Amino acid sequence: MARKKHQDPATEPAAPQVTAPLPMEEDRLVEASLRPLSFEDYVGQDALRRPLHTMVQAAHELKTALDHMLFYGPPGLGKTTLAHIVAHEMGVTVHQTSGPAVEHKGVLAGLLTNMGEHDVLFIDEIHRLPPPVEEALYPAMEDYQLDVLIGDGPHAKAITMPLPRFTLVGATTRTGMLTSPLQDRFGFTWRLTYYSVEELTTIIMRSARRMGVQVTEDGAVELGKRARGTPRVANRWLRRARDYAVVDGSNVVDRRIANMTLSDLQVDAAGLNNLDRAYLRCLLERFSGRPVGIEAVAAALSEDRQTLEFTVEPYLVQHGFVDRTARGRLATRLASEHLGLEAARDDGPVQKKLF
Ligand code: ADP
Repeated sequence: MARKKHQDPATEPAAPQVTAPLPMEEDRLVEASLRPLSFEDYVGQDALRRPLHTMVQAAHELKTALDHMLFYGPPGLGKTTLAHIVAHEMGVTVHQTSGPAVEHKGVLAGLLTNMGEHDVLFIDEIHRLPPPVEEALYPAMEDYQLDVLIGDGPHAKAITMPLPRFTLVGATTRTGMLTSPLQDRFGFTWRLTYYSVEELTTIIMRSARRMGVQVTEDGAVELGKRARGTPRVANRWLRRARDYAVVDGSNVVDRRIANMTLSDLQVDAAGLNNLDRAYLRCLLERFSGRPVGIEAVAAALSEDRQTLEFTVEPYLVQHGFVDRTARGRLATRLASEHLGLEAARDDGPVQKKLF
């Protein structure tokens, strides 16, 4: 009898994901193909684009290495994309890794010694670098040299290796987790912000062209409105809507198809998904609209605190659904109206906020 093939969990298909805007495997592949490679194609983030573009052009002309840069903000807003654009416009190679992947100094040494002059080293989730690796990075960033130990035991010898003049581009969702010696070594630090509906619509139209998908303007606007201000989510909705258009037989993503897709995925008119709504309901119903700490909400929802804090909340706070106060999180009137809930208890803080 044929034995059931053992399925490696790493190769098992991922469960459909419609909550936090983190990439699935398919997303990663398509994302790479949709990634803009020039500042011209990079939509939005206007305040950042000009100074950054100028820095890159100057470094290119002066043939110097660019300052190290740090980009921070919620996932999916274009931090990785910027690292690729910077490298592309400098005409150099980008070497990509992430904080947890650089497990020890040896991995870092391997990365740095394989770089060419002015190359870009992109470290995603840089706040997760192990402390000894981070410390080894300081002289590498500052003086382009790395202290390594050759051999071990009493015969070990410390040597200083010269490195090419590289540019480190760090990305993080959590600057608060970065040590100040590391933060201080970046010459350029920028917080990425959520995108407007118009910007997301432009991104969707461009992605559709690249994917060979037909999309109408009102279809793109509908997807853009409900993409949580995030290009990664916008591109994901486009792919899901393309599937619906194909199965529907029309092959065109118009407003009807966009609505059908997003209502099936339980994304509401404000772009909130079921995790967003569960979070708001938790504040309004479970905690009766009182200020509540993030730990309590995470426990009540059986959700990871970090996902709530760095993925769910920033959008809800920015769009006025939640206030973060010194006493805790508070759902606003907009949140209760959006969910069609009665305001919580008559003497509760929600009530006070409401009237
Ligand atoms: P992050 O690194 O912040 O998580 P990414 O840079 O991986 O986000 O962006 C996710 C996807 O969204 C990219 O593949 C790219 O296709 C798209 N994207 C992000 N920012 C922009 C932008 N400003 N213009 C066009 N597309 C963008």
